[in-house]
Amino acid sequence: MKTLRIATGNAHKLSEIQAILDIPGLEIKGLADCPDLPEAIEDGDTFEANALIKARIVAKELGVWALADDSGIEVDGLDKAPGIYSARYAGTHGDDKGNNQKLMQEVAQLNNTRARFVAAIALVGPEGTERVARATVEGHVIAEERGATGFGYDPMFIPAGYEKTFAELGDEIKNQFSHRSRALAQMKPVIEELLLG
Ligand code: IMP
Repeated sequence: MKTLRIATGNAHKLSEIQAILDIPGLEIKGLADCPDLPEAIEDGDTFEANALIKARIVAKELGVWALADDSGIEVDGLDKAPGIYSARYAGTHGDDKGNNQKLMQEVAQLNNTRARFVAAIALVGPEGTERVARATVEGHVIAEERGATGFGYDPMFIPAGYEKTFAELGDEIKNQFSHRSRALAQMKPVIEELLLG
């Protein structure tokens, strides 16, 4: 059985990736049993660069195939902010509550609420092989939180063609067409070829 390590400390992302990347013969693991890894400094200026930074550390330190996601939300009326700063928009990395508060206050002042989630997925091998995929899901943001599933900005984002937020639609529907599932769908045949082919 081949193993692919998902380079994330975000339990929600890990479970979405495991649900979407269901490949027979491939064990998909997080980093819960690898506590001593150096912290990734996400100082790239694109989603792709930051995804590669995260995957490279795990591939190099553990000598394994690693996959990382770097993702976020772009709001057109805010010149595409928070963008690559989505996880730390309110100041502290991973403060979903604070991030949503800040974005809701800003969105309340906007006419143009068009937005998209973006995901870059990087795959890095133990010998330095690198592949990147990127995908988006279009929609708009609202100045309130609705729904209880998912994570991050899910309660504020309504995908195009729907009237409910990702957090109201639930993970099963979200995973059918989210930015992350679209980027992973591009990466899936690459993983099958490079790891299992
Ligand atoms: P990263 O972990 O550095 O890639 O930061 C991603 C951030 O973007 C998260 O903290 C969330 O705030 C936001 N984000 C990315 N993908 C999603 C999603 O599917 N739903 C809601 N928020 C997301």
